[in-house]
Amino acid sequence: MAPSEGIVKFRCDYTPAPALPATELRELNAWRKLLVLTQLIGQDPNRYGGYGFGNISCRLNSEEARECERAFVITGTQTGGIADLTVEHYVVVKACYPDENYLIAEGPVGPSSESLTHGTIYALDSSIRWVMHAHSPHIWRHAQALSIPVTGPVPYGSPEMAAEVRRLYKESDLKETRIFAMAGHEDGIVTFGRTAEEAGFVLLGYLVRAMQL
Ligand SMILES: [Zn+2]
Repeated sequence: MAPSEGIVKFRCDYTPAPALPATELRELNAWRKLLVLTQLIGQDPNRYGGYGFGNISCRLNSEEARECERAFVITGTQTGGIADLTVEHYVVVKACYPDENYLIAEGPVGPSSESLTHGTIYALDSSIRWVMHAHSPHIWRHAQALSIPVTGPVPYGSPEMAAEVRRLYKESDLKETRIFAMAGHEDGIVTFGRTAEEAGFVLLGYLVRAMQL
């Protein structure tokens, strides 16, 4: 069970602001649509208490930005159930402090409940520019068979999750696999990469492998 799926638990300094131009969101929105079609992002009355699940983000500013100031654009809170998003459904996280459970966001909608996990991943390495959080029963149940690093059973979007992600990055081969499973978050999978293709193809590749088990 993931009883707290979708519930925003962090402190958020949120300022309403106009949407980003469509040209800046086109690639993000196309990948999100693909993840909706493959049911890796979505909303289903029979899954996770009916809450929307999954989200996608990409970095905005240059690689030189400081760890906690690596701005990224992410889907807004509870947008999982919307098939086609518009620019109004994306929000910019300008700074993210996972250990303090705090972030600063600006845009037409509040940030996704899993923004802290995205921010934690961007802080790992300045070359990471895309993060995808999907819910896949196939991959999650076969994480061990697929040699996917798995976090401890900590709640999603928490400082404990941030610590777990950093631990895996240091102690497992997460840097190479670019995918991990969240033991405390039913079906929760995260992939990342320098490009959308890198993050997206890792996710789809593991899904296809899991479906063969
Ligand atoms: Zn999730």
